[in-house]
Amino acid sequence: MKAFDLSGRVALVTGGNGGIGLGMAKGMAQAGATVMIAGRNKAKAEAALAALKAAGGKADFIEIDVLKEESCRAAVDATAEKFGKLDILVNNAGTSVRKPPEQLTAADWHLVMDTNVTSAFLCSQAVYPHMRQAGGGKIINIGSMMSIFASSYAAPYGASKGAIVQMARSFAVAWAKDNIQVNCILPGWIDTELTKQAREQVPGLHERVLARTPVARWGLPDDFSGIAVFLASPASDFLTGTAIPVDGGYSVVA
Ligand code: NDP
Repeated sequence: MKAFDLSGRVALVTGGNGGIGLGMAKGMAQAGATVMIAGRNKAKAEAALAALKAAGGKADFIEIDVLKEESCRAAVDATAEKFGKLDILVNNAGTSVRKPPEQLTAADWHLVMDTNVTSAFLCSQAVYPHMRQAGGGKIINIGSMMSIFASSYAAPYGASKGAIVQMARSFAVAWAKDNIQVNCILPGWIDTELTKQAREQVPGLHERVLARTPVARWGLPDDFSGIAVFLASPASDFLTGTAIPVDGGYSVVA
C-alpha cells in the first residue's frame, strides 16, 4: 500500500542498535527506508546491522553519544550528507536511574534528563534545516507509560518522559507550517536490556506487569515495527503532536 511505503526515505534512529530502536529500524527498513542506526556500542551495532541486512534492508551505523551536543549535530548532518537527505528522525535513545527521590544525585538527574529529552531537543533542532529544505519530514519521540503515570523510583525518568511529550507538541505546532509531523510513541512494558535489570531487582515486577496488561505478555521490540512505519509514512500526514500508547492495553486498565 503506497500510504505506508518508505522507499527512497532516509531515517536516523538514535539507540537503533538494539531494543525498541532496532524493532523500529527493522520495520522502516522493510518498508523501503534506508536506516542509519546510531549508538555507542559498536558490537551491538554490528549485530543489528547484520539482522537488518539479512532481512533485505538498507542500513548503516553511525556512532553517537547523545549526551554531547556536537555528537548529536554531527550524526544528523553526517547522515544527511551520506544519503543526500534525512526524512525521518526517531529520538529513541534512553536510560534510567532507579532510586527513590531522596537518594538521587544531581548527576543522576542530569544523566537521565540529558539522555532522554535534551538529546531529542538537540537532534530535532539539528534535523530541522534538512527537513525544511526537503519540504517536510517526520520526527518520532519515544515516551513511556511514565509519560502518564508515576513511579516512586523513577522521578527523573518520569520527568524526562513527560517532557518529551510536551516538547513534541511544541515542535509539532511550530513546524506544521514546514510539513514536519512530530509524534510520540508511549511503550508499555517491553522486554529489553533496559527492563532486564528492573525485572531482576524489583520483586514481583514481572508478575505485576503480566497481571495488569490485558494482552497478558511483555511487549517485544518487533511490536514497534508497525507504529514506526505508520508515523514515518504518508499514512500519518494528518497526525501531529500526538502520543500513542503501544502497551498491550496497560494504560486503559483502571
Ligand atoms: P535499550 O537499553 O535496549 O536501548 C536504549 C538505547 O539507548 C541503546 O541502544 C543505547 O545505545 C542508547 N543510548 C543510551 N544512552 C546513550 C547515549 N548516551 N548515546 C547514544 N545512545 C545511547 O532499551 P529500550 O529499547 O527499552 O529503550 C529504548 C527507548 O524506549 C528508551 O527511550 C526507553 O526509555 C523507552 N522505553 C522503554 C520501555 C521498556 O519497557 N523497555 C518502556 C517505555 C519506554 P548503546 O547501547 O550503544 O549505548
